[in-house]
Amino acid sequence: MKIKEVVCALEQFAPLPLQDGFDNAGLQIGLTDAEITGALLCLDVTEAVIDEAIALGCNLIISHHPLLFKGYKSITGKDYIERCIIKAIKNEIAIYASHTNLDNASGGVNFKIAEKIGLKNVQILAPKEDHLLKLVTYVPLTHADNVRNALFIAGCGHIGNYDSCSYNSEGKGTFRAKEGATPFCGTVGELHQEAEVRIETILPSYKKAEVVKVLISVHPYEEPVYDLYPVVNLWMQAGAGVTGYLEKPEAELDFLKRIKRIFNVGCLKHNEPSGRLIQKVALCGGAGAFLLPQAIRSKADVFIIGEMKYHDYFCHEADILIAEIGHYESEQYTNEIIHFVIRDLLANSKIHISKTNTNPIKYL
Ligand SMILES: [Zn+2]
Repeated sequence: MKIKEVVCALEQFAPLPLQDGFDNAGLQIGLTDAEITGALLCLDVTEAVIDEAIALGCNLIISHHPLLFKGYKSITGKDYIERCIIKAIKNEIAIYASHTNLDNASGGVNFKIAEKIGLKNVQILAPKEDHLLKLVTYVPLTHADNVRNALFIAGCGHIGNYDSCSYNSEGKGTFRAKEGATPFCGTVGELHQEAEVRIETILPSYKKAEVVKVLISVHPYEEPVYDLYPVVNLWMQAGAGVTGYLEKPEAELDFLKRIKRIFNVGCLKHNEPSGRLIQKVALCGGAGAFLLPQAIRSKADVFIIGEMKYHDYFCHEADILIAEIGHYESEQYTNEIIHFVIRDLLANSKIHISKTNTNPIKYL
């Protein structure tokens, strides 16, 4: 098993185009052609984590937070990031980060947090916009099934818990092949009519090149006709934060105490409780405070985030209970997702969850 095969599985689960604009998820350091000797899963890459990988004989570190966020003009070891770069390269360790692409993926970081709390009917809080395309193509009746299936395999037709979604209508296509053409049907120089199926389906924009390549390769025509339209619908399967429901409503303080226990929170910050019962929960791990307006609009009773600024707390007592549980604490179970994604590729003895607590924040 090569490192790149593991990377491929990670990117199938959390495609890099799902990452936010500011992010730098993906391969950080190293060559992926090497055989994998072991994978160390962690939230942050520090020198201690690289030492742990060396001791365990792992040549791949998979982190949630990227080690590298900016360009470097020199690497001299003047800070911990540069020292990590040097140490990883010297020890032939590859470093890969699955960050906001994993936050935004269905089944990603926030779904894991929801699972830990025991939420049901979990849905994306802020689905991504402008990430979908509609594909329309016209295929001779005889080849419609073949082309449609190939498009589905290439990633078209996924809506919620459904796959193979398409709409098909029959009609007639016309064309006249000119000199130099080798038409699939009809005769050069003569107007031809062919019974065709108009196939409509949907795809994530980032799959456009791959899907068009497949379409052209399976479509029998010399010049396949296809249209791609931007779709402004929300993409309900990708986005920031989630909402979900508790099976039974809980009193605010009971709920907060339970959250504190589950996430081993050193200091749980919250705004003034208002006496509401908690049933609908909105949450976003890490720096998720930007979703407060959406959490309020979703009519959630509580909004759980990793971190939030002082001023953002003001005047929301009547809107929602805010619970700030710590950035590290909120994302600590991310390793379980990575473990799940790569468990079939690597022997269990080769997958290690880091024992280094990289949380830089301590509580008295
Ligand atoms: Zn984070």
